[in-house]
Amino acid sequence: MNNIYDLIIIGGGPGGIGVAVESKILGIENIMIIEKGCNHSQTIRKFYKDQKRVDKDWQGKSVELIGSIDFKDGTKESTLNYFDSLLDNHLIEAKFNCEVDSVKKENGIFEVISSEGTFLAKNVVIGVGRMGKPNMPSYTIPLSLKTVVNFNLDRCSNGENILIVGGGDSSIEYACELSKTNEVTLTYRREMLTRPNPTNQEMFSSFLEDERLSAKFGVGILGLENERGKIKVSFSDNDVREYDRVIYAIGGSTPVDFLKKCGVPLNEKNEPIFDANYQTPTKGLYIAGDIAFKSGGSIAIALNHGHKIATDILANS
Ligand SMILES: Cc1cc2nc3c(=O)[nH]c(=O)nc-3n(C[C@H](O)[C@H](O)[C@H](O)COP(=O)(O)OP(=O)(O)OC[C@H]3O[C@@H](n4cnc5c(N)ncnc54)[C@H](O)[C@@H]3O)c2cc1C
Repeated sequence: MNNIYDLIIIGGGPGGIGVAVESKILGIENIMIIEKGCNHSQTIRKFYKDQKRVDKDWQGKSVELIGSIDFKDGTKESTLNYFDSLLDNHLIEAKFNCEVDSVKKENGIFEVISSEGTFLAKNVVIGVGRMGKPNMPSYTIPLSLKTVVNFNLDRCSNGENILIVGGGDSSIEYACELSKTNEVTLTYRREMLTRPNPTNQEMFSSFLEDERLSAKFGVGILGLENERGKIKVSFSDNDVREYDRVIYAIGGSTPVDFLKKCGVPLNEKNEPIFDANYQTPTKGLYIAGDIAFKSGGSIAIALNHGHKIATDILANS
């Protein structure tokens, strides 16, 4: 409690790791990452399938890295290994299984209130991502279907008839991978896919052409019902079909309540307010990674936030 950290980072994803490593490299010593999961990078661990290709230029957005972290295209496993080595080599202190509840600033020092007690810091970076709160459909999902409706690949097995909902890179990667051992249909409310990167678009077209999966575009879903343990899906074109499992891959949302509890002001669209260096109007309180955007974001973008923030903290100290 008496130790006052130079910097506490809330969230051990790419944004948090980027801030920690870049800050250490710039000579900021007394740093701690607080992560609610049992290890860093929970979004990568929970939402990426094993062996997933990890693209540096995710969703077709080309990003030039501006800091010292040399992140490259790879796989889920190589990315996690790379982050492990960054944390080890730069001797970054990390507290896992510790969830931050709120942050307040008293007499120029931040109090970070967590499940493991209160920690003090001169600067705080919030990098909690958006996937703690995956987006939900507008209709209610019956409680009895909870174990067969997913927002990631948990509990997926083989030989199932699966509906995947979404039109981005993650829905396509889920669909192609699962189609190797399951019957898969991808549905998207628009007539065609525009968001995925060219590699994924190509992969999806070839899977579709070879009839390894099917697609249902330009329709919405009106609701789900439990039909003898199967999921009855009613589509907006009056089609009704049954599936063993439905997976929503429709992104996540900004944790608005958490940001409010940390004293981060939000604009009328409920987006956090910050300057060009990701500092909020509260001096020393920063935002990093996906939560800086309504949608989009990537590992490389989050790492770049880290460099900008570290440079700004150093300039202000
Ligand atoms: C399926 C899928 C595939 C993707 N593929 C790619 C890709 O190939 N390439 C790419 O560049 N990007 C990809 N992305 C996007 C990329 O994962 C994100 O842009 C990136 O993880 C954002 O990093 P972040 O640090 O902002 O947030 P996150 O990675 O979400 O990390 C936030 C961390 O904060 C922790 N946390 C949350 N709340 C608290 C709290 N209260 N207290 C303590 N800790 C907390 C979480 O447990 C988590 O570990 C993909 C995303 C998904 C969902």
